Amino acid sequence: MEVHVMGSDQRIVRCARVSFGKDEKVDPERDKRLIRFLFRHRHASPFEHNIIAFEGTKENWLSVLGRLESPAVQIYYSGGFIWMNLRNAINSIEHLPEGIFEEVKRFFPATWSIVESGGNISDEGLSKLPYTTDRVFLQEKVETSSGWVGLVDKLELGTDMDYYTFIVECPLFVARQWHRHRFGSYNEISRRYTTYDIKFYIPEVLRKQAKSNKQASIDEPVEEPFHTEFLKEIKRLIDESHTLYERMTEKEVAKELARGILPQFMKTRYYWTVPRIALDNFITLRTHEGAQKEIREFAEAIREMVGYKGTDKKNRL
Ligand SMILES: Cc1cc2nc3c(=O)[nH]c(=O)nc-3n(C[C@H](O)[C@H](O)[C@H](O)COP(=O)(O)OP(=O)(O)OC[C@H]3O[C@@H](n4cnc5c(N)ncnc54)[C@H](O)[C@@H]3O)c2cc1C
Repeated sequence: MEVHVMGSDQRIVRCARVSFGKDEKVDPERDKRLIRFLFRHRHASPFEHNIIAFEGTKENWLSVLGRLESPAVQIYYSGGFIWMNLRNAINSIEHLPEGIFEEVKRFFPATWSIVESGGNISDEGLSKLPYTTDRVFLQEKVETSSGWVGLVDKLELGTDMDYYTFIVECPLFVARQWHRHRFGSYNEISRRYTTYDIKFYIPEVLRKQAKSNKQASIDEPVEEPFHTEFLKEIKRLIDESHTLYERMTEKEVAKELARGILPQFMKTRYYWTVPRIALDNFITLRTHEGAQKEIREFAEAIREMVGYKGTDKKNRL
């Protein structure tokens, strides 16, 4: 049976460590302990960025679905393949066809042994486990005016459920818009954990409010001297709020509260794993002229990187 996998043991760790901004380093011993910790404490979302697709018919798929006890397990059928992420595979392994287990174990040897042990594996046991890593940190990276987007990995079988993982760095208000796209998985830096690498987007141009559309802007700067004055004020306020944040955290104000003073221009960073059908929907909605320029640039960069296949047009609504 054809089985395709996107990801590695390390992918889980990367998506977990983005919480404190340390997603690039590989340290197999610490990484394996982190996977054990995540599994024991049911921190499940980092497991969602690994994807498994195996050949099967709609009948095979329905038969798996029919045996599931939990309504929360999400398994999809598209283009002759049955698709799921590692979280769903872990939650349904006893119902999957023979052969899947071996492949999952081959691609995620450390993770799978931890799962099999129920999380009860010693440090010594962990150190003996093989560990798989990503080939590269990023396959491609594109800068936009407010941040950057990088392609981590993709699994393309020519179906609506082909999967892509990106890293995005963007201002908070862009992330708010982005996270409304619910079909997919996100893991994001946590400002409850870390004061690491705080950066801000300062627009070059303060665009004017559109008159025809209450939520849009036009490609024209506000008049001088206000343009220069407002930009100067923005920079001053950002500096002041950042300084106050640093003073508060130095004096042990909890990061989860101190962050409240940081403005929406602050950047955040997250992993986004998304199926093609939801990615195309994102591209359609966010490259449209009605979308905000900053998110439009990201959607255009993504379209350049991985194309647009129009799979979202199959939806009536
Ligand atoms: C220009 C613009 C302005 C916007 N303004 C606002 C605003 O003022 N306020 C606001 O809250 N949002 C706003 N949004 C967000 C918008 O309402 C959507 O939440 C967002 O675009 C994500 O689209 P989606 O639901 O199709 O995508 P996803 O959530 O990624 O879903 C992908 C597809 O999966 C299916 N799907 C997912 N979840 C469900 C579900 N629960 N039930 C049925 N089908 C589902 C649908 O087919 C959907 O198209 C705006 C979006 C745009 C582009």
